Amino acid sequence: MYQGVNASDGIGIGTARVAVDPDLTFVPKTPKDPEAEKQRFKEALDRFSEKTYAQAERMKTSVGEKEAEIMSGHVTMATDPFMLDEINNRITDGRCAEQAVNEVCDMFYDMFDASEEQLIRERCADIQDIRTGELCELLGKEVIDLSSLPPNSIVVVHDLTPSMTATIDKENVAGVITEVGGRTSHSAIIARALEIPAVLSMPDACTIIKNGDVCIVDGTKGEVEVGPSQDELEAAKAEAHKAAAAKAALEAFRGKETVTADGDKKLLVANIGNPDDANGAIEHDAEGIGLFRSEFLFMDAKELPSEDDQFGAYQKVALRMKNQPVIIRTLDVGGDKEIPYMNLQKEDNPFMGYRAIRYCLDNPDQYKVQIRALLRASAFGDIKIMLPLVTSLDEVRRAKGLIEACKSELDKEGIDYNKDIEVGTMIETPAASLIADNLAAECDFFSIGTNDLIGYTMCADRGNDRVRYLYSVYNPAVLRSIKRVIECGNEKGIMVGMCGEAAADPLFIPLLISFGLGEFSVSAPAILRTRSIISKWTKAEADELAEKALSLKTTAEVKALLESAAK
Ligand code: PEP
Ligand code: MG
Repeated sequence: MYQGVNASDGIGIGTARVAVDPDLTFVPKTPKDPEAEKQRFKEALDRFSEKTYAQAERMKTSVGEKEAEIMSGHVTMATDPFMLDEINNRITDGRCAEQAVNEVCDMFYDMFDASEEQLIRERCADIQDIRTGELCELLGKEVIDLSSLPPNSIVVVHDLTPSMTATIDKENVAGVITEVGGRTSHSAIIARALEIPAVLSMPDACTIIKNGDVCIVDGTKGEVEVGPSQDELEAAKAEAHKAAAAKAALEAFRGKETVTADGDKKLLVANIGNPDDANGAIEHDAEGIGLFRSEFLFMDAKELPSEDDQFGAYQKVALRMKNQPVIIRTLDVGGDKEIPYMNLQKEDNPFMGYRAIRYCLDNPDQYKVQIRALLRASAFGDIKIMLPLVTSLDEVRRAKGLIEACKSELDKEGIDYNKDIEVGTMIETPAASLIADNLAAECDFFSIGTNDLIGYTMCADRGNDRVRYLYSVYNPAVLRSIKRVIECGNEKGIMVGMCGEAAADPLFIPLLISFGLGEFSVSAPAILRTRSIISKWTKAEADELAEKALSLKTTAEVKALLESAAK
């Protein structure tokens, strides 16, 4: 049995599909018959085009029209007469098809790369896809297409990038195993949203596991079994069955209010990454959206999304959620959230560098595009604006200044928006926690981002397996920080929520009830379970537990106490 990080609950049983980059090396040879070689290239190109069109067709429904167009654009590029002539001429001159494809792709790549226009430079990525696709066909290799896997596939990859996850065919994927990534990495967050059991950071997974191996992925415990015995398989099936029964029992909480055992009402909302995730939030009975991570819109695009593109996405969520609250976080770029085309300079310490609100305030014209889109969308629902990675009051004031400037512009243009739109902040840095009283005086709400708050408080990178022992919400330093933030917010009468993963932690929920948290924002599949846990605790019981927890001095003691008290 192999151990990794328990990133997305559930047990998946299936056959491994190891998505390693195929080896596309070849030995250049002079073809005996150039005409036959051209024919071999033509057949490879036909297969490539056919597969690419089929993939584009599937992506129309699974991902979106725009992404599908990019895909079919590869065929247009690969069948461009100029490109074909260049390849065929090289074959006539004595190169084999592989070599001709490689050289011509190099030529196009260099040409695009030298362009002053960013849009043209971005075509380099398309050329690389064409090169890989054509060479695979010529060499008889396979690129694993995550959008069309056979049923019960266990995807094994080095890392699951946001764009890979966007194409994943959730119906056929029984589990995910990666070699890197932590519980709060974006791949883990997406796996949870897709409800796919996932174990991340299993060392050398792509070497140990072979294509076709039967695997059991226990995403709750973070364990992987490769080639299980019949007994192990039976046990896993029974476990999966039990989990399904527990899930079915939670249905009793559907359509119910979220209240503690003594009737204190809480708001239970969902975290989402793109407008379509709102469907999942509704399906799981969320009472609104507590965190829309807008950076996914930027990550899934090839260039900065325009004001209209962003407006469309925000409006879609606002309309889907009717009049329920929708908190949209402005662009949180940098650190663990890379957006390649933004070309942020490499830094020695990117987690503490030029990122999130720091980047946005330094690029006000770009930030205003997002703010205008958010304001315009606020005419269609209860949208609230949330600022990421705040460390000072000055940042909040400057962001609010830009929001006011955008409001004036819209007034002049006669465009409708919610004049009383609420502006709140994430509390995810120790600095924000320490000045929570001052921030509460000038913000409409708080949302505690424990994923980063734990990392920055403990100086432990959220994705680094070797410092995982420090990264815990049960650490006394983190507990005190969270308690203080909630108290400061409640004193000023603003809503205090939590959108970090800890809001869905069954062990931690009673402490949050005791501290006075008003809003729990969790991944959509965790909604009903969170409602059920909240319903089990009275304030008095939670207070008694919290008092004991706060008197303890180590993470292990706190965890043991919470485990012993779990209902
Ligand atoms: C957090 O830091 O807790 C959070 C919710 O934001 P993200 O995970 O996107 O950094
Ligand atoms: Mg964060």
